[in-house]
Amino acid sequence: MDQVISSTLSLSCQCKKTRAQVEPISPKQANHLTCYCSDCQKFAAALNRKEEVLNQYAGTTIVQVPIAHFKFTEGKEHLACLRLTEKGLYRWYAKCCNTPIGNTLNAGWPFIGIIHSFIDDDKLVEKAGKMKGSVHIKEATGKIPEQLLGPQGHTKLLLATLQKLALWKLQGKNKPSEFFDNNGLPVVVAHIQAH
Ligand SMILES: [Zn+2]
Ligand SMILES: [Zn+2]
Repeated sequence: MDQVISSTLSLSCQCKKTRAQVEPISPKQANHLTCYCSDCQKFAAALNRKEEVLNQYAGTTIVQVPIAHFKFTEGKEHLACLRLTEKGLYRWYAKCCNTPIGNTLNAGWPFIGIIHSFIDDDKLVEKAGKMKGSVHIKEATGKIPEQLLGPQGHTKLLLATLQKLALWKLQGKNKPSEFFDNNGLPVVVAHIQAH
């Protein structure tokens, strides 16, 4: 008999004061990838968490899920947000211990890219699928070995991502949201931290 995998992904900051979950989760409803863009690197640096967040080529592993499936279960008061530029992504973190939580676009978008530093679940691959591939590899700090790149290239991965986003958009998965209120404003003030 197959082992039954729970459809809830457990999330927590390093100090465990901030906890959340993704429910439901399945490989079909998740996009597991690694981003090597310099902005993701700057975010980890801004929180002084490069060691914990970035792999040896400065990649950030992310699991994109519908934002409507993300719920805080404890410590939401620690939620904080920064943007690297005035129009940059909303980059969310737990200020209790500066653990990156994830990235979102504005309120109309139906997803959050959860950063692995906030994932606290030893069944990640069973629940969210294997790491599919890497994006923005030109901004990596070295030549990334094949096995770390994952099977899908940038273009294929972006197309697959856009397909998922379009489906989640149709399904209205931008709401409810833990990150934006009904007027589409972020629930905490996003400070701009330019680098
Ligand atoms: Zn914490
Ligand atoms: Zn990035």
